[in-house]
Amino acid sequence: MGHSLRSSTLVPRGFVVYNTAIDDGVMLIAIRPASTASLCPVCGTSSERIHSRYQRRLADLPLVGKPVRLVIDARRFHCDAVLCGRRIFTERFDGDVLAPSSR
Ligand SMILES: [Zn+2]
Repeated sequence: MGHSLRSSTLVPRGFVVYNTAIDDGVMLIAIRPASTASLCPVCGTSSERIHSRYQRRLADLPLVGKPVRLVIDARRFHCDAVLCGRRIFTERFDGDVLAPSSR
């Protein structure tokens, strides 16, 4: 049951594809981080306790002959560090991954 889509070349390092679809001529590629944990930006503690999920849509990417849209399944985590003031934090990604949306 292998997909014939050659989407792997579009996927940022550290992410895995978990779904693909064609929607109105646009190829949707849903990706999520390969890691199960994320670091709290305040205290640096690693957490695997997911609080919630949300989707971040990246700008459409140019691909020969077809529009492609990357959708990231991003997560919010609980920080369990007792002395940390941040109870919930949003997963961060490398700047180049989300670069198209930041100017
Ligand atoms: Zn923390």
